[in-house]
Amino acid sequence: VPELPEVHTVMGDLKKTIVGAQITGVWIQKEYKKIPDHTELIKKLIKTTVINVERVAKNIVICLDNNSFLLIHLAMTGRIFISNNEDKNVKWQKFVLKLETATDKHYMYFSDVRMFGKVALLDGTSLNLLKNKYGPEPIAEVDINIVWEKISKKKTNIKTVLLDQTIIAGLGNIYATDTLFLAKIHPETLAHKLSRDDFDNIIKAAKLVLNEGIKHRGSTLKDRMYVDGFGNAGSHQDFFQIYDKKICPVCNNPVVYKKINGRGSFFCPNCQKLK
Ligand SMILES: [Zn+2]
Repeated sequence: VPELPEVHTVMGDLKKTIVGAQITGVWIQKEYKKIPDHTELIKKLIKTTVINVERVAKNIVICLDNNSFLLIHLAMTGRIFISNNEDKNVKWQKFVLKLETATDKHYMYFSDVRMFGKVALLDGTSLNLLKNKYGPEPIAEVDINIVWEKISKKKTNIKTVLLDQTIIAGLGNIYATDTLFLAKIHPETLAHKLSRDDFDNIIKAAKLVLNEGIKHRGSTLKDRMYVDGFGNAGSHQDFFQIYDKKICPVCNNPVVYKKINGRGSFFCPNCQKLK
């Protein structure tokens, strides 16, 4: 599942490739989830020019010169592939853009095997509504007092709270697992039992883990579900702290694997003592 660093990497690949290009061709699979409907979406996209590419949580947002925003949500299995060549054989493709500048031609292929993702064209108001749905990201300059206010009232475990994108955005299962290990917090600690120091350590660790993930261009696991915008693997899987480990890298004790609220969690019971 692509998390923030993976989506951020793909967003960056798109940004350096398609900004300034005009959309000269659009193809979208009839059955795929999209807003507005098929014909209208194509009509509104064609002949627009890409002025920027951004990311809102795990959504990729392509800003167009007609004040509209093309949102692509990768969800579980969404993948974007950018190529100079027209490829009619890209597997499971749902949405294809042809983009041209005076000198270059690019194709953006969006595939989504399990079809949990979506494509939507938004106006500025809808984009702001979307932005307001998410909590602040630990890698942005945020007022963490607001996050602390919310977290310190939660009576659920901290692992589950960190995955709630309305409280803090950007941590998926892998990066939340490693964040709690670095902060030396047991994932089942109830959020309202954390001290302010614990919380500050969690935010510091989250920043580090996400920035490392971005630096390594994301995590590509054995299923190779995630690759960057040009089809290359990321390398952050070689830098996991505790995720997918059997032995704690700090104290050499066995790592515990446990499902917490349905999500596979790894932790070291020695380094991450339950309070
Ligand atoms: Zn340990």
